[in-house]
Amino acid sequence: MTNMNCIFCQIVNGDLPSTMLYEDDRVVVFKDIAPKAPVHLLVVPRAHVKNLEEAGGAQGALLGHMIAVAAKVAADAGIAASGYRVALNNGLDAGQVVFHLHLHVLGGRRLGDMG
Ligand code: 5GP
Ligand code: ZN
Repeated sequence: MTNMNCIFCQIVNGDLPSTMLYEDDRVVVFKDIAPKAPVHLLVVPRAHVKNLEEAGGAQGALLGHMIAVAAKVAADAGIAASGYRVALNNGLDAGQVVFHLHLHVLGGRRLGDMG
């Protein structure tokens, strides 16, 4: 469940500091350390799941919960009305650098086209 070499596992376990905004039994939400927008949050499952391939169908409920939490923290951050992007970088071509599944919640400015 926990990978000792994983930065997000260390944050989930409280071994590395973060600005934590939300926690429940399955996910945590903290601020991205290098924000690309005025609001840039990361929705991270407590369990170490590497990517969508590893998540597979069995984690469908978790993925649904992550999206629901993304909407909640976006509303709490005051960007529900103005809009926001929920992004999941899966693999090298997408620029995934932390191989512990997570959603980005980006908003607070007009975002550019994807790609
Ligand atoms: P991805 O893997 O989806 O490309 O992006 C990983 C994200 O995690 C990046 O936006 C990066 O800024 C963020 N990040 C990497 N290391 C840390 C960290 O130690 N703390 C926090 N809060 N964010 C991090
Ligand atoms: Zn991890």
